[in-house]
Amino acid sequence: MKHLFLLSLLSLLVFGCTPTAQTTLSTPAPTTPPPPPAPTAPTYTPFEQMINKKPKNIILMVGDGMGLGQISAGMYMNGNKLSLEEFHYIGLHKCYAADDLITDSAAAATSFACGIKTYNGAIGVDVNKKPVKTILEYAEEKGLATGLVTTSTIVHATPASFIAHQEQRKMYEEIAADFMNTEVDLFIGGGKNYFDKRTDNQNLLDQLRDKGYQVNTFLETELADLSPGEKNLAYLTSNTDPLPVARGRNYLPLASEIACEFMDGRSDKGFFLMIEGAQIDWGGHANDTDYIVTEMADFDKAINKVLEYAKMDGETLVIVTADHETGGFAIQKGSEMGKMEGAFTSDYHTGTMIPVFAYGPGSKAFKGIYENTAIFDKMMEAFGF
Ligand code: MG
Ligand code: ZN
Repeated sequence: MKHLFLLSLLSLLVFGCTPTAQTTLSTPAPTTPPPPPAPTAPTYTPFEQMINKKPKNIILMVGDGMGLGQISAGMYMNGNKLSLEEFHYIGLHKCYAADDLITDSAAAATSFACGIKTYNGAIGVDVNKKPVKTILEYAEEKGLATGLVTTSTIVHATPASFIAHQEQRKMYEEIAADFMNTEVDLFIGGGKNYFDKRTDNQNLLDQLRDKGYQVNTFLETELADLSPGEKNLAYLTSNTDPLPVARGRNYLPLASEIACEFMDGRSDKGFFLMIEGAQIDWGGHANDTDYIVTEMADFDKAINKVLEYAKMDGETLVIVTADHETGGFAIQKGSEMGKMEGAFTSDYHTGTMIPVFAYGPGSKAFKGIYENTAIFDKMMEAFGF
């Protein structure tokens, strides 16, 4: 029955549209103007059009402590879907440090930023404590715009390793001072106290203003009310550590969106932007499944904002990975879609390989298994540095 109906519908369509049928029309064609075009849907760049190009921009997104267990739990608690499923190529990296099979966030981020294995605690320095140029500094030197966004303090190990050079990650005031040696176009994160409540009584926020930055903090301006202009932009989201998302922090997706818009077209050479979901790691350290999945959901929203930008732009390589896994987290028997029974083997980081998700031009290079330092090499090659 259904087939017969379809057949007759098809013949109607075919014969109704033949030229002979039209020439027999005796009435003049209607003169009513054509209907206005439907509102245009966003025009995404097709895969074939972007995949063999060189990227102009790179956005590296780091989910601190985000192993496959965390990603899976985040997915099953989010209606069995994540933005990560839209990525083109997937690989794995080996995350060990120079002095320890179990890396910390400082050594791991220094591997991404500088392309070297170093010791745990190192911020942008090698095993001999010598500064090594970071990809952010290379990008700046080549005239690209640069930016950092995080849900930890901006001086915390992950963002710090891209912009600072210090022997130990806890040297927060020294790391904040290193921001004065750069021309980073944008940074958004916590840790205002390390800039203006310092033991040396310097006010680095005033120094940033003197350097020509637009400086705002959570105390007087909501991120949503920010109106970025031509100036470099610094926005401090908290005095010390930002809150967990479950306790009211909500800025990462918006900050990611603002950062993409701000960086877009800021330099005709392109941009390098690092965005961190910092507290997935803190959920792992706390052996707190709810903390992990709420931070995963927040990070995935940020990924979605970045992907929306990259899909439209067509010249942006997006890489999502983690520095290491935290907690030895596993999804246990008794879990269901929307209900996670998590178990942990550790309150520290573990040594499991870490997935890498890559989208857009240059993404093909990220398939396979490689060292965490190769992420730096692949980004440098993608930029043509
Ligand atoms: Mg971190
Ligand atoms: Zn950690």
